Amino acid sequence: MKKTFALVLLLSCCISFFSFAQSLPLIGKPKKIALTFDACMTRGMLSRLESGLEKSLYDPSIVAFLHQQKVPATIFITGIWAEKYPSVVRQIASDSLFEIGNHSYSHRGFVPDCYALPNLPDNEKVNDILKTQEILMQLSGKKPVLFRFPGGCYTSADTKLVKSLGLKVVGWSFPSGDAFNYDSKSVIQYVLSNAKADAVIVFHLSGGRYAPKTAEIIKAIIPSLRKQGFEFSKVSGLSRYR
Ligand SMILES: [Zn+2]
Repeated sequence: MKKTFALVLLLSCCISFFSFAQSLPLIGKPKKIALTFDACMTRGMLSRLESGLEKSLYDPSIVAFLHQQKVPATIFITGIWAEKYPSVVRQIASDSLFEIGNHSYSHRGFVPDCYALPNLPDNEKVNDILKTQEILMQLSGKKPVLFRFPGGCYTSADTKLVKSLGLKVVGWSFPSGDAFNYDSKSVIQYVLSNAKADAVIVFHLSGGRYAPKTAEIIKAIIPSLRKQGFEFSKVSGLSRYR
């Protein structure tokens, strides 16, 4: 009888401990989420900017809000955007909240038919990536280690190429939908309902007609995501990119 009682006690202890151990990761692990901002610029966008058809391809209120709210973020920059806004690249690089990734030189598609982007021929790919590395390194003093394909279009050969140049490819869990979108409410709702631990979300840094409501959107989602228990992280802070 005593033996049976002892066995039952031991079993119930084991079961309790097992349940407790199972719940541990939920207690200790913060729900990380990475906000990323692409500073895209094609040659077409550059000529619109230079001819005055676009006022600016940078909305400074986005970075200012992230800084004020102490929200870490990863910013993917194209080479020609960096050449146009060198002081902004220096400013972003000097802020420890942010990290800079390579987003190609002139935002050409690595495969044909990528969102109407001009195509980047195979024999120009290495130079396109390395030229941007050089520009970003000169301005930031740091060698970028992350790379994002323009439009998210690539083949397996392209990922191999990027990796061979010492860069990690960063995609996204879902795009926020901020590009060319004036309906900020729907973007906010979409992001908040799709947010999950370790997600990487794409936004754009340009403002203007390319990303008209991004500043307004992040001002709404950042406090809401915090309330949902999310902790903001740079991409490099997510376990799969370490
Ligand atoms: Zn882009």
